Amino acid sequence: MRIETLDKPAADAEEGELQLPVDFTMRLDGFEERSVTQRLLYTFRQVDGEVGLVNDRNAQRDLRTGWLPDPRDVGDVVVRESGSILAFFDEETAPYADAVMKDLRASRETVLAAVPNWSGQLVAYDISDFAGLEKRTPMQVWETGGVAYPVFVRPGSDEVAAVRFIVNPDVVHNSLNREFLLPHELTHVALGSRDDASPRWLSEGAAEYVSRTQYSVEEQRRMAGFAADYLGITDPVPVNGTDFYANPNVSYETASIACTYLAVTRGEQTLWDLMDAFTTAGRGLSAAQVDAIVQREIGLDTATLARDAVAWAAAAG
Ligand SMILES: [Zn+2]
Repeated sequence: MRIETLDKPAADAEEGELQLPVDFTMRLDGFEERSVTQRLLYTFRQVDGEVGLVNDRNAQRDLRTGWLPDPRDVGDVVVRESGSILAFFDEETAPYADAVMKDLRASRETVLAAVPNWSGQLVAYDISDFAGLEKRTPMQVWETGGVAYPVFVRPGSDEVAAVRFIVNPDVVHNSLNREFLLPHELTHVALGSRDDASPRWLSEGAAEYVSRTQYSVEEQRRMAGFAADYLGITDPVPVNGTDFYANPNVSYETASIACTYLAVTRGEQTLWDLMDAFTTAGRGLSAAQVDAIVQREIGLDTATLARDAVAWAAAAG
């Protein structure tokens, strides 16, 4: 941890207060490799002849600078750790901590087995205040099981220091999907920035694929066939960008079937190689450019890949 005060006092302090901008640098030793610097605003006030620190941050300033504080920066948390897993709960979610930690450990094993070169270190939140989740999900909170999000090395930087994740306690504590939800989010954590340039169907489909690797290949194929049938996916269209969230159930399942098909029929490495090809090509590709890369890497265009995948799933015994 490092605290560094900057020399200029802030302009919007109230009468009798002193505000000091502070660069606060901290690394979660044992759970993350890199440190994160936050820009805080310390407010000091003189009371009965004593000068005391009355606030260590300023919400208006965070809003102005676009800095989204981590949930533990703005509320009381209950900390649990297990090996290289650090998790934060609160008073309301703490009763579920044992069960969630157990699931996190199992999910970590699933993801370690599937995603190459992951350290296995992770930082997770399971808290009842939805504000942090709401600001980070592209979907409605009720349909969000969890969200993995990048933490940047300092405000204004696009260099990622770590990927953390927040689970939606309503979903994780109650849903039948919890066994898939945690490894799905952990896959995003494990991939870090590796899938940043990938089309949405590839990053989400790969995460969904990994979450099902706790089942046998035959079962994964049957699950894909069942889901395609249940959702009526007969003419699949893999979706990229924010359109992905217009019809999330169909988008996630189409993506999952395509990625499961690739991983099962050609080996898991195909997914990571495809992601790396997108990283090399860079972000902001047009649909035609995305298609050209898929064609070059796997010998099929995106639409054919999705159709073949759904046919493969439907033919499961
Ligand atoms: Zn996801």
